[in-house]
Amino acid sequence: MNYFIAANWKLNKTIAETREFLHKFIPEVQQVTGVDIVIAPPFTSLTAAGEEIKDTNIQLAAQDIFWEEKGAYTGEVSPLMLLETGCRYAIIGHSERRQYFSEDDVVVNRKIRAAEKAGLGVIFCVGESLEDRESGKTFDVIRREVEMGLAEVDSVNLVLAYEPIWAIGTGKTATAGQAQEVHAYIRKILANLYGNKAENIRILYGGSVTPENVDSLMACHDVNGALVGGASLKPESFAKIVCFKKEN
Ligand code: PEP
Repeated sequence: MNYFIAANWKLNKTIAETREFLHKFIPEVQQVTGVDIVIAPPFTSLTAAGEEIKDTNIQLAAQDIFWEEKGAYTGEVSPLMLLETGCRYAIIGHSERRQYFSEDDVVVNRKIRAAEKAGLGVIFCVGESLEDRESGKTFDVIRREVEMGLAEVDSVNLVLAYEPIWAIGTGKTATAGQAQEVHAYIRKILANLYGNKAENIRILYGGSVTPENVDSLMACHDVNGALVGGASLKPESFAKIVCFKKEN
């Protein structure tokens, strides 16, 4: 199973900046094997990014989707529209969407089911807040988010991302031990839902991943890749993460 390393650019990079990044990044990673490399630029840069990565080993993701195919939903973008730009995946359930746009587990589930129906892969994010962790609720929160998000969802083209909210953009990374503990728990929930197929679902870690800490995180048994925010904005730094040192 390939590792899966995705860049989440959030509200960063114009079309020109996207092209400039990819001109530097592509030559740095074109020899990489064993890693699915994915970038998620803002909607406005998807078409340009799709042109730049054509015939490379890099795939495209959107940062969000809407669950309807078309209609009177001002400002929204459908899975089919995203597929047309070359997207293979959509990030769904990111904690910033949950926090700033009030997306709850029901909304997240609708989006995941819409992506699945359209044939778009899903990078499904879950994670506890600092308050949840300190009050011993981490596993309850993770279980609720995973089970509600995946209600009536098949395991096809599904990637999970464990992103402890307290580690996102804070410079605080979960230790390899903390990450492995939650990843193993997520794997168990997935096994209840999907049986043997759970072994083939990649579970990414996200939260202040850098070139310095990526090797130890990727060495964990149930960590199958990374979702990277801040450190994915510079081509040199994201290339170093993608080229992490694999254990034999
Ligand atoms: C993210 O928001 O998905 C993320 C992991 O951000 P950062 O790497 O900046 O913590």
